[in-house]
Amino acid sequence: MAALHGRVLHQLIEEMHLVNWDLDIETRYRERFEHEEFSGDESDTPVFWKNDRDASIGELVGEATEMLANYREKGWNRDANVILSEATFMLKVGRNVFSGTVDQIRQEGDRLQLLDFKSSKFPPNQQFLDLDYQLGLYALACWRGVFKMPDGTMRMLEIPPEKLDIMYYQLRDHIPYKRNGNGYTAGDERGDPRRFTSRSRKQLVTLKRDLAAIASNINRGVFPRNPGMINCPVCAFADICLSDAQGKGLTSRQVHSIESLTITGEAA
Ligand code: SF4
Repeated sequence: MAALHGRVLHQLIEEMHLVNWDLDIETRYRERFEHEEFSGDESDTPVFWKNDRDASIGELVGEATEMLANYREKGWNRDANVILSEATFMLKVGRNVFSGTVDQIRQEGDRLQLLDFKSSKFPPNQQFLDLDYQLGLYALACWRGVFKMPDGTMRMLEIPPEKLDIMYYQLRDHIPYKRNGNGYTAGDERGDPRRFTSRSRKQLVTLKRDLAAIASNINRGVFPRNPGMINCPVCAFADICLSDAQGKGLTSRQVHSIESLTITGEAA
């Protein structure tokens, strides 16, 4: 349900910027949601509804309307010069090719902004933003990868990291408080949804080396456990992971793979 919601929000933001800034949010949300649910790329994936389907969609429509109406009101969105939207990219790192989609790239003067829209309930802290692999990979793609242009051609953007600002856009911050509280009143938005980070050249070179090492492990079938207080409680594989931890460990071949990466510095 959350995945469908996120996808439809992205589509409506793109539609507002490229087609109709004043679109009817509720009508378009319902149309696009239905399309994604029944005919979209992942329409064969079962949807887990929190309540019954109609009530859940009603809640999502309410949220989307508040988020996008307030998104649309902000001058920094209305006046944005969006040069790419939902742009797919490919990036070669060592022997592996990474691909993905960047939500938006905007131009502001002589600087570029890369935006990542999120509708999650849990906003990240600054340390996470500064370290996150996904945002780093996007910055690397803007510098060294190729992007699909609106005319269908693939082109390098060659945006050097020092010219790129990365914006994590917490859409839920546009949802107004329903009640008065400490320091806010009912109707106030939750805060400024824009959180910024950046990457230096040095960080991107290190990221490239890390990605090559991680990809090399994946290609060899090595997936060491990485327990953490944030990831484990929400991990869908926790049961499998726990039962593996009680019986099977890494095979000696997998251990050897990790050791050879560390000792020979193959990843670099
Ligand atoms: S439970 Fe999930 S997140 Fe935690 S170590 Fe296992 S696979 Fe990783």
